[in-house]
Amino acid sequence: MREEYEMIIDSIKNGIVIDHITAGKAMDVYNILKLGKLDCTVAMIKNADSEKMVKKDIIKINGDFPVDINVIAYVDPKATINIIKDGVLVEKKALQTPQKLVNVVKCQNPRCITSTEQELDHVFVLTEPENGVYRCIYCEAQAK
Ligand code: ZN
Repeated sequence: MREEYEMIIDSIKNGIVIDHITAGKAMDVYNILKLGKLDCTVAMIKNADSEKMVKKDIIKINGDFPVDINVIAYVDPKATINIIKDGVLVEKKALQTPQKLVNVVKCQNPRCITSTEQELDHVFVLTEPENGVYRCIYCEAQAK
């Protein structure tokens, strides 16, 4: 376990490691965090071996990270977050399921007011926590 973390955090000075991502979901996590739009260094490891799971994906982000990481729970609630400061793992935490998603996913309903009112935020609320279902606050369409 110790060796595993030494390997994971190498090259990260200050940032986060998103660990235990379900294998194959790294790209979903990347997209939901809009990492392509950030300047920080991002490393993605796919199909790493894991003791807990058969295979897992890992994303390392070096640098300041202003985004609410809990949105990851929308695509992969089992992922875990490791906070790295000065090259040392300072905190491990589980994701909190967000009650609200603001401009994370877009409403797909063509009759929703958000499709005509471009300046409106796309807001979804968690309506069925047991099933992870989010619904649009304007038209109640389910988030896809
Ligand atoms: Zn809607």
